[in-house]
Amino acid sequence: MLDDRYPAEPFRIKSVEPVRMIDRETREKVIKEAGYNTFLLKSEDVYIDLLTDSGTNAMSDRQWAGMMIGDEAYAGSKNWLHLESTIKEMFGFKHVIPTHQGRGAENLLSRTAIKPGQYTPGNMYFTTTRYHQEANGGIFRDIVIDEAHDTIVYHPFKGNIDLNKLQALIDEVGASQIAYVCLAVTVNLAGGQPVSIENMKAVRKLCDKYGIKIYYDTTRCVENAYFIKEREEGYANKSIAEIVREMHSFADGCTMSGKKDGITNIGGFLCMNDDDLFVQARELVVVYEGMPSYGGMTGRDMEAFAIGLKESVQEEYIEHRVKQVRYLGDLLIAAGVPIMEPPGGHAVFLDAKRFCPHLAHEEFPAQALAANLYLESGVRSMERGIVSAGRDIKTGKNHAPKLELVRLTIPRRVYTYAHMDVVAKAVISLYKNRDKIRGLRFVYEPKQLRFFTARFEEI
Ligand SMILES: *Cc1c(COP(=O)(O)O)cnc(C)c1O
Repeated sequence: MLDDRYPAEPFRIKSVEPVRMIDRETREKVIKEAGYNTFLLKSEDVYIDLLTDSGTNAMSDRQWAGMMIGDEAYAGSKNWLHLESTIKEMFGFKHVIPTHQGRGAENLLSRTAIKPGQYTPGNMYFTTTRYHQEANGGIFRDIVIDEAHDTIVYHPFKGNIDLNKLQALIDEVGASQIAYVCLAVTVNLAGGQPVSIENMKAVRKLCDKYGIKIYYDTTRCVENAYFIKEREEGYANKSIAEIVREMHSFADGCTMSGKKDGITNIGGFLCMNDDDLFVQARELVVVYEGMPSYGGMTGRDMEAFAIGLKESVQEEYIEHRVKQVRYLGDLLIAAGVPIMEPPGGHAVFLDAKRFCPHLAHEEFPAQALAANLYLESGVRSMERGIVSAGRDIKTGKNHAPKLELVRLTIPRRVYTYAHMDVVAKAVISLYKNRDKIRGLRFVYEPKQLRFFTARFEEI
């Protein structure tokens, strides 16, 4: 039975989508056909889908009701005005540009704020973020604290920026060669690890000294705010909405994918205080996304997004969200399965290096582990390791990230604790038989963001 560390679901279910488990023989066939890449499986062949928390959220009855009042005017939709005012109120920035999803915002920010040859330091990279930075001549530099690259050591804010690393970069290249600091809350690739307010303040102070701008990747800022409330001194009695607002008071703007903490299925935006940057971004949004009053979203999407943002800061919602993820992590830790500790806000990450010590890094341990978990249980996860990291743009060599992880990502409001039990049981059983997991090699390697569509075979 659940103990009181884990609150029951703060909702009643009034619409259901049946799922089914296909037999092992069929799973064997379809994972082979998918080139051992869980991204290439058909959704129908998956029993419990923990591929991603992106756009997989269950909407509330209010959001569905909001879909019915979509104002599909080409320009000046009332839903845009609702979304815009919601974002301004929640984050406190002066300007908002809507985009079809997070990467649309990253594209606009990278095109307007980076001069070729400038650096874009960040607390670990994210795939689409770094792609857009590099495509616009930016040079990424990882300035996250060392603890973020270690799955075992405990740190309450493993996503923090290492101020010494930032200072060293400023000393090395000069402040004018830094386009902006990209600060992600939470850090997806480090396992959904949060950043403290104290760290945000300190980064602001250092950047102010040199006139360097700070843009947040604020895709999972509400989950980050919950960790601040739980772990940072002085925040236990503040509301999540207050913490979210305070976090953003230390930034010059942000990009957000609404598909995550926005509790919607599509959408995103870019915010900034800078008037010139706003004018440039507004000119570009028309080219890449659509009018500055819809940015690639329908009126009904924008309505659902506005309502989703408001629901995301409700205390019961976010407490259950983070603790449901923690429940799965706690089950695995208790069974001795190596995971990224402590579990983060949106996912539990299996440490594939420790799970499959018999596989070399170039045999893609995390990719192989994800494929085998599907084969064993019908549970879909994804690789976050050497395949996701891609190749160095100059040398053509594989990036060799310290973290080689499999992400079990929990969609918001979709699965129950019983589903988490099934997943834990499957992972634990695979862990007992881990020496049977075989390495993989590429049969097709895409040039960009290769993890999405790459194909492999067993060695
Ligand atoms: C998903 C994600 C993005 C990109 O957003 P999309 O909506 O998928 O384009 C950017 N940053 C982080 C941290 C993400 O998780």
